[in-house]
Amino acid sequence: MKELIDHIGNYEDFILDMDGVIYNGENPVEGAKETIERLCYMNKNVKFLTNFPESRRTVKNRLKRVVKLEASEEDIMTAAYATALYMKNAGGSCFVMGQEDLKDEIRKSGMTVYDANIITEDNILKHKPDWVVVSLCDKNYYEQANVAGQILKSRDFDSSHYIATSKGWGWTREHGVTPGIGCTIAFLKEFSGKEPAVIGKPSNYLTDLAFKNWNINPNKSLIVGDKWSDIQTANEYGAFGIKVETGKQDFFSGIKKLDNKSRPNLVLKSIKGLFDKNEIIYSEKS
Ligand SMILES: [Mg+2]
Repeated sequence: MKELIDHIGNYEDFILDMDGVIYNGENPVEGAKETIERLCYMNKNVKFLTNFPESRRTVKNRLKRVVKLEASEEDIMTAAYATALYMKNAGGSCFVMGQEDLKDEIRKSGMTVYDANIITEDNILKHKPDWVVVSLCDKNYYEQANVAGQILKSRDFDSSHYIATSKGWGWTREHGVTPGIGCTIAFLKEFSGKEPAVIGKPSNYLTDLAFKNWNINPNKSLIVGDKWSDIQTANEYGAFGIKVETGKQDFFSGIKKLDNKSRPNLVLKSIKGLFDKNEIIYSEKS
């Protein structure tokens, strides 16, 4: 689809996933900064949409630190921010199995936040949190999962108050992929029988919120991501879906099991391919 590059002017909104597209952890993707700057120069709406459970401020600071790009918090949507908004008017209290940044974001929504430092196996009945949120968590995993499981299993917990920030099976870290939130969801389901509402891609809540906040017209928008969940989101909303190969999921090793929902319109070596035809490695018309 060489026409895409020639007619990039037809698209108004460029919705970019972050990890695997713009940077990998603390390493910038080559050419990402220049590509984004060129889009901005063309007066395109460049937006950042990530499942990562961090605050918008943390993500903004990472963009500045790693890629040397300035962005407004208004142009960033994260699963942490969306999770806090999901519970915003509910009030009450919440047990969070996750990182400090997520807890801070939920606190800002006015909710009392508990973690495994406060709630332990022997005082669960004393606190009785109204909500349980599960997310990426790298410390004291068993203690946190145990408390989450006990709360979920208790008879008076309302299962509609159980949330996961996303549901990917893997968490890409500096030294490889470790078990992700999807594994925690399976672990807790086995124990409590409960399943969460999921906020992040490919579920709709995060994307609905982002599209509404940003006033996106899906037919004029383009979603760039490194994972199948990004492409599923593009297809579901009718946006043009572009997969880049700078993340951890390889297009050609996954192509045999692709259903229509996961089929990208275009695959690029990297985001640079928005302006460089030599970066195209697959297009739906080829
Ligand atoms: Mg990604």
